[in-house]
Amino acid sequence: MPPQCNWIQAHHLHLYRRCSRLSWLRYCDTPSPSPETNLTSFFETEMQWLISALFSDIPNAVIVRSDCSDTTRIRQSEKALSTQNSVINGCITSGPFMARFDGLIFSDNQWVLSVIYPGFRFQKRDYMDVAFLVTVLENAGIFVDDITLVGINSHYCRGKTLQLNALCRHTTITDKVKALLPAMASKMTYLHKHLTTTPAPNAQLGLRCLAPTPCIHVSTCFPALNDQSILHVSGISKHRKLRYIQDNVCSLHALSMATNLSRRQSIQVSASLDNTDYLQPDLVREFFDSLTFPLYFMDFEIAQFMIPPFKGLTPLYQLPFLYSVHSLTHIDGAPDHDYFFHDGNDDPSLSFANAIIKLIPAGVPVIVFNSHLERHILKQLATAFPSLSEPLLRIASQLVDLYSLFLSDAYYHPKMKGKYSLKTIYGAIAPDDPNQYHHLHIQNGESANIAYKQFIYETDDTVRDSIISNLHDYCRLDTYSMVVILQHLYRRLYTHHG
Ligand code: SF4
Repeated sequence: MPPQCNWIQAHHLHLYRRCSRLSWLRYCDTPSPSPETNLTSFFETEMQWLISALFSDIPNAVIVRSDCSDTTRIRQSEKALSTQNSVINGCITSGPFMARFDGLIFSDNQWVLSVIYPGFRFQKRDYMDVAFLVTVLENAGIFVDDITLVGINSHYCRGKTLQLNALCRHTTITDKVKALLPAMASKMTYLHKHLTTTPAPNAQLGLRCLAPTPCIHVSTCFPALNDQSILHVSGISKHRKLRYIQDNVCSLHALSMATNLSRRQSIQVSASLDNTDYLQPDLVREFFDSLTFPLYFMDFEIAQFMIPPFKGLTPLYQLPFLYSVHSLTHIDGAPDHDYFFHDGNDDPSLSFANAIIKLIPAGVPVIVFNSHLERHILKQLATAFPSLSEPLLRIASQLVDLYSLFLSDAYYHPKMKGKYSLKTIYGAIAPDDPNQYHHLHIQNGESANIAYKQFIYETDDTVRDSIISNLHDYCRLDTYSMVVILQHLYRRLYTHHG
């Protein structure tokens, strides 16, 4: 398939550094099963607010909407730049290359580029991105005199009002970026040649295919690494897996013949090869014996803001804004559901704490999946509101971790494929349940976090209502899936083991 007419952007350069074939595949727009969320998209809503606040007083600046198509952004930006107008949220092209920018200000006969960075430390690859942008600008005839980086002060604690001067750190990075420019032009020329040459370049299997996370193309590039391969066995380091594959140990059969597996690996491999689930009755029975009814199932959602929205918060503070609780009076019963969502634009913490205290009775088991977050938030709230400390810490002491059953390998389903997240387990044991995550608008905690930020900044009531409904559906499923898993384990235990 020949490459389609795409713009070449800075991220293609980074992909090339990981794997030349990967950059080619991405440029050719090979469908990606899992869209990436990077730092910028995670903080997009806040960054757009910050950009408008920082550039609000630039005279005659053309503000391009960041949600416009690239074509519109390019047309509006290039028209404004041609008459030496400042541009906010712009896009610039030069030949096959395209780059987006936050602020390009024309003042005193000079161009000043402002880079708004949603983080604390500018990384090496971020300097490369700016060098790519500056090269595209220069090729388009715009020579930047100064480059300012606007990052976030991690120690900032918000008072009653937001102090932009205290929140933002301004640093001049002109020299550092300009030092990268001489090599950038030839890199871009080479990249263009590489991306527009057919067919796709061949590539050898390497650590880059497995780490930091497995490449989405791995089973396409190397068909032996399919669903029944050693990639889906946990507890083997990536280096070790690579060595096995290089020794032609790819399948689960080959792995079980080649080495002595740990207990966990043996369970995974035999469950997958026999296509049957594994249950350790003693451990599961012990878990059920420790429970009393009614049972509560609880899940918190938190948001992390780069720009603290409320008094007393610092960047990346973990703010609880939503919880879901299901309860069961007996194991085969239908669960009742309750939830909390603070639909105001003020700090939800106190209402959240009061609501969860009112809902959870003393002495009942409260099942969570991986208790770290819920325990941390309850302790954080106890510190923030000393008068509520006793009941909040009491709830923390009632937590029962469902994840511990899976950590101790009490149960494994072949469809878990070496993964132990709540969503994977639920998907494995109840694949036909119409309530599965892939039917939801929000499918993971990261998207829930982004949705809450959109809610805070959104002014349209209809959009806000739709965000609340989507968040509610997502959080409800996290506790509902725990109920389904527990009922499944109970049936498995007593159907087969009396
Ligand atoms: S699987 Fe490996 S060789 Fe294939 S595109 Fe990904 S990183 Fe490149």
